[in-house]
Amino acid sequence: MDFPHPSEFKDWLRAEAAAQGFPLAGFAACGPFEAEQPRLEAWFAQGRGALLPYLDPAVLLDPRRVFPEARTALVVFFPYARPEAVPGGSPGSLRLSRYLWGPDYHLLMKPRLARILAAAAARWPGLEGRVCVDTAPLLERQLAVRAGLGWQGRHTLFIAGKAGSWGLLGVLLLNVSLPPDAPFGTHRCGTCTACLEACPSQALAPFLLDPARCLTTFTVECEAEPPPGVTSALRESRWAAGCDACQEVCPWNRQPLWGDPALWGGPSPLHQGPGSTLRVNGSQWKKLTRRTALRKVRHRHWLATLGRLLGPAEEPPRPGAGGEAPRGET
Ligand code: SF4
Ligand code: SF4
Repeated sequence: MDFPHPSEFKDWLRAEAAAQGFPLAGFAACGPFEAEQPRLEAWFAQGRGALLPYLDPAVLLDPRRVFPEARTALVVFFPYARPEAVPGGSPGSLRLSRYLWGPDYHLLMKPRLARILAAAAARWPGLEGRVCVDTAPLLERQLAVRAGLGWQGRHTLFIAGKAGSWGLLGVLLLNVSLPPDAPFGTHRCGTCTACLEACPSQALAPFLLDPARCLTTFTVECEAEPPPGVTSALRESRWAAGCDACQEVCPWNRQPLWGDPALWGGPSPLHQGPGSTLRVNGSQWKKLTRRTALRKVRHRHWLATLGRLLGPAEEPPRPGAGGEAPRGET
């Protein structure tokens, strides 16, 4: 399929992305990630993907395994953090990662990317695409680097330059070949190692994450029992869902691009209430997490994490047990 003016088409797509709330957007070609292959395969060979069994290196390395007709990826950055939303900022509260403070981002980002796709397809019949927000097996961070939006920091997360790292990546795979943007050449971490030092559980080596030590793995991604060192890190750091420690110290987040408060949720007792009040029952959990990013965490998983952070829940007093006299006795 030929478009008369690919650069005009790109400008139009970028403007559509901005109109949908994605302030940064870039274009990458969809060829396989050959340079990433040895590193990714070594990472899996070392068993680092064991707790994330849904990841398949062969699929991850080729965006066309997700959408065979893919030729171009439109990669967008969606900022979410807000200056007033500080994990652990209220007295006695536990810490929940900033990306878990708002609505389910899939529900926000997918329809927006789908609207861009629908508008483009209406303008150019024959154009097809696939929207990917976190759920498809894609190397989104590497695609974002390829699209020139930033780099992967020493903490392995994506840093969009001055816009910082408090953002989610979305991808629209398109069946048209558009001139790619210039990829981001190299990282701009310099000699900084702040994130490595700040990690509560020593999960980071430079540009390498060990998921089997990362707090996010055990509080959000899987229900496996953490190793003792990670459990004590959970207790001391008070991260109850996700962890932002490596991003909070990053100098690139000093003046980040903040998320739109109108889009990104209001306060919830789960984020700001004292830890001792957060052992809610199943129906309360459902109500409090409805349509939020926290819904990904199952209620039993939440309670297990609270047990690790706060110790076992107190049993309600049994009639006649303890020092209090049962009713009717004096
Ligand atoms: S998210 Fe937390 S536990 Fe995981 S690497 Fe970053 S600082 Fe370490
Ligand atoms: S804290 Fe320093 S080393 Fe880590 S990602 Fe940020 S700039 Fe890079």
